Amino acid sequence: MLRTFALVLLAVASAFAQQKTIYLTFDDGPQPGTTDVLDVLKEEGVHGVFFLTGSNALSVGGLEGQAKIILRTLAEGHELGSHCYIHEPMTRGGYIAAYGDLTTDAQRDAFHKNLARNDSEIGRRLEKPGFKFEFARLPGDGSTFPHLVAEVEKMGMKHFHWQQEFAPNGVFKWIKNLDWKGVAGVGGDISWFPKDGEVILFHDRHWAGEKRELLRSLIRFLKEKGYTFGKLADWKPAPPKPAKPAAPPAP
Ligand SMILES: [Zn+2]
Repeated sequence: MLRTFALVLLAVASAFAQQKTIYLTFDDGPQPGTTDVLDVLKEEGVHGVFFLTGSNALSVGGLEGQAKIILRTLAEGHELGSHCYIHEPMTRGGYIAAYGDLTTDAQRDAFHKNLARNDSEIGRRLEKPGFKFEFARLPGDGSTFPHLVAEVEKMGMKHFHWQQEFAPNGVFKWIKNLDWKGVAGVGGDISWFPKDGEVILFHDRHWAGEKRELLRSLIRFLKEKGYTFGKLADWKPAPPKPAKPAAPPAP
C-alpha cells in the first residue's frame, strides 16, 4: 500500500518535472495551408499564434477569403500578431537599405507604414476600426536589428523572435535535423528539445494538404514529451539566473 502510494507520488512528481510550456507561432498567413493548420490545431486541442502578412490576400481568394480565415482563427481561440503588411525587406542588406538606422524621416515613415498598414488592413477584415496588433515579428532577419525591434515595441507591440523552427524535411536549407527526434518527415533547425518558455516558428504554407499530418505527428510527439502550448498573452520572460554570491573579502 505504502509502496503503491510512493510510486504514484513519484509518477506525479515526474509528470510535473517534465511539463513545459512552449508557444507555437505560424508566419506569413493567411495563405494556402492556414486552414489545414487550423484544422490540426482544433483536432488536437492546441493553441497557436498567427503572425499575419496582410498583402498575401490574393493567395487565399482575396479580401473576403482573407477575412474568413482571420475570423475563424480568432473564433477558434488563437492569437494574432503582425508580420508587416508587405513581407519585405527580409535580408539584413534589405533592412539596411530600406530602414537604415531609422534616423531620417523617409526611413522612419517606410518602417512605420509597413506595420501601420497591416493594422489598418487587418482591422478592416475584422470590421474593427482602430485595430492594433499586440504582438509582432519582423520578417526574415528583422529580429537581428535591436533598434528595429525597439521601434516595434515603441509602437506598442511586443516583438517575438523564436528559438526553434520546424518545417517538413528539405523545404529550408538551414533546417538540417531531418526526421527530428524520429518524427518522420519533420525537420528541426536545432537538434535538442525546446526549453520551457521557448517560442517555436512554423510557416502556414508548409503544412498544406497531406503535409498537415506531419504537423499533427510533431504536435502529438511534443504532447507525449510533456509539452503544453501556451498563449503569448501569458508569456513571461525566463527569470534571471540568481546572481553569484559576492566573493568573501580577501584576508
Ligand atoms: Zn515571414
